[in-house]
Amino acid sequence: MQIARSIAEMKALRSKCAEPVGFVPTMGSLHEGHLELVRIAVRDNPVAVVSIFVNPTQFAPDEDYKAYPRDLDRDLAMLDQVKTGIVFIPDSQDMYADGYNTWVDVNGITGKLEGKARPTHFRGVTTVCNKLFNIVQPHQAYFGQKDAQQAIVIQKMAADLNMNLEVVVCPTIREKDGLAMSSRNTYLTGSERIAAPVLYRSLCLASDMFSNGERDAGVIRKAMIDLISQEAAAKIDYVSVADLQTLSEVDKIEGNALASLAVRLGKPRLIDNIILG
Ligand code: AMP
Repeated sequence: MQIARSIAEMKALRSKCAEPVGFVPTMGSLHEGHLELVRIAVRDNPVAVVSIFVNPTQFAPDEDYKAYPRDLDRDLAMLDQVKTGIVFIPDSQDMYADGYNTWVDVNGITGKLEGKARPTHFRGVTTVCNKLFNIVQPHQAYFGQKDAQQAIVIQKMAADLNMNLEVVVCPTIREKDGLAMSSRNTYLTGSERIAAPVLYRSLCLASDMFSNGERDAGVIRKAMIDLISQEAAAKIDYVSVADLQTLSEVDKIEGNALASLAVRLGKPRLIDNIILG
């Protein structure tokens, strides 16, 4: 496994890579969810590149940029085990030098769901992914369904900007009790961790209702909210049943829909989703 600690080092390694190149962008603090993306990238490409970069521009000033969990030695050991080809670990001064002033913004869908709660978040995500794609020049980039809106936004950006890149969306990896794996799960206290699977239970309820023929999105949202509300510690940010392309809330589900939610459990704000249909 080779390690590039600067953009220049990454570009030098990239110039010698066998192709196609698979790429998994991450913020580190890795878990099985990340590793599954890496395994798929390794399986499908002669070279898999993984970036570890806690991107400051996707955090609002009141969010957890400084506190975000970081454990580089552990991450590198995990990546080595799954046969990662290159790990790219740029620092923020290299990525955003003084005077940096260029932004990539996908309009419309970034104003919904996560974007409503975190208005500057997606501009940071699309900008950093664009920069990383330019540096790594992957043929395929792998994203998790766990961050459904992020995957949809990146797909839209890649299509709108005519990128020579396939965006591959991979299934959400979960703990045994259904909690979606997330670096932020480490923030949960013991009792919050016990309560946390209520997110997935509410998504399974939505899925069961859909399978049993329910198409009224309002009825499904209400059932999810009622279930989550049984956990006193859970504070709902949003519960959504939305169109998979526009991410606008729907009244009646035609075909399929994205059921998604954001819930605060103490300090952490957890997100999860399931596709209905
Ligand atoms: P992050 O490090 O949180 O920016 O995540 C890096 C990538 O891993 C993103 O594409 C996430 O959607 C993906 N990811 C995070 N958690 C999971 C999970 N539990 N299952 C699948 N993919 C995940």
